[in-house]
Amino acid sequence: MRVAVTRLGGLVQRRGFASTSRRLDNYAFIGLGQMGYQMAKNLQSKLKPSDKVAIFDVNPTALESLSAEMKAASSGAAVDIAASAHDASKEADTVITCLPEPQHVRGVYDSILTSSLPKKDRLFIDCSTIDPTTSRQVAQTVTDAGQGTFVDAPMSGGVVGATAGTLTFMLGAESSILPRVEPTLFLMGKKVLHCGGQGAGLSAKLANNYLLALNNIATAEAMNLGIRCGLDPKVLANVLNVSTGRCWPSEINNPVKGVLENAPASRDYRGGFGISLMRKDLRLALVAAEAAQAKTELGTVGFGMYDKAAEREDCKNRDFSVVYRYMGGKEE
Ligand code: NAD
Repeated sequence: MRVAVTRLGGLVQRRGFASTSRRLDNYAFIGLGQMGYQMAKNLQSKLKPSDKVAIFDVNPTALESLSAEMKAASSGAAVDIAASAHDASKEADTVITCLPEPQHVRGVYDSILTSSLPKKDRLFIDCSTIDPTTSRQVAQTVTDAGQGTFVDAPMSGGVVGATAGTLTFMLGAESSILPRVEPTLFLMGKKVLHCGGQGAGLSAKLANNYLLALNNIATAEAMNLGIRCGLDPKVLANVLNVSTGRCWPSEINNPVKGVLENAPASRDYRGGFGISLMRKDLRLALVAAEAAQAKTELGTVGFGMYDKAAEREDCKNRDFSVVYRYMGGKEE
């Protein structure tokens, strides 16, 4: 893997492209949910037949279905179904985890890092969105166990990016380990943004999603304001999108039905980024803010809205732009 480096202010952005340099041979992938399943598939398909990927999830259906898909593919690394996260990690040089919440990450690493795990200079890459404090604690347990290095690499790009292998990773790792981490991430994504030392990837991810959560609510309120004043929704969106109010929710994921034919709002908020995931990310951002003593007046109010909307029958399990419906946005 060759890596082209561009400096963006203090941030280093890298784009990968294939070449022939050596990779580590044994991988473990733990957590085969919406994201992990697709990421593991990309990883395995791009590795050499002499490489090996051990996979594990507590959900046997995901495990068997992924193993069948991988084995049916004509190329890629050999596949092993492991009986536990610990078994998956035994031979691995690189262990990738993609789990729902901080307690799952802590539990999985506690189960891996027992005294029966052969000592190795391993690389652990955690792609889960969790809080930086938990991530630092888990990194310390890896160091204390003498099992190598733990880095955080939360991602953006959603299931679509995970499937296409176009994810963006926000990496928290010491610079010295980048040459070992990046080639693996480029098998599952297109961009690696090195944000600083361990934990920094998560701080960046949570700050971004904090802003997104609030931009989404602000866009919903502004659209409703204009529409109730008599403006046509598309006319209003066009004004916002060439003016200073422009943001991702106004331009790409507008919360009002009919403004963008392909946005979740135009299909009763189906698909997209689930409101319960946004509630989770905003909660984690508030946890991180408290630890860092950063003020979050808007975030606290916003969290209350996502928390209630995620439970309301006509909003639950829908894209997070459904807050427009939750706050009484005009729908017809
Ligand atoms: P998911 O709930 O679909 O998948 C999580 C998987 O982890 C499940 O298959 C579950 O069975 C497995 N799991 C739970 N406990 C386990 C354990 N102890 N051992 C092994 N496996 C276990 O979640 P997801 O959507 O794939 O997201 C994974 C992470 O990525 C989350 O932290 C999420 O916030 C983050 N993320 C998700 C998206 C998205 O669009 N879905 C986008 C960016 C980041």
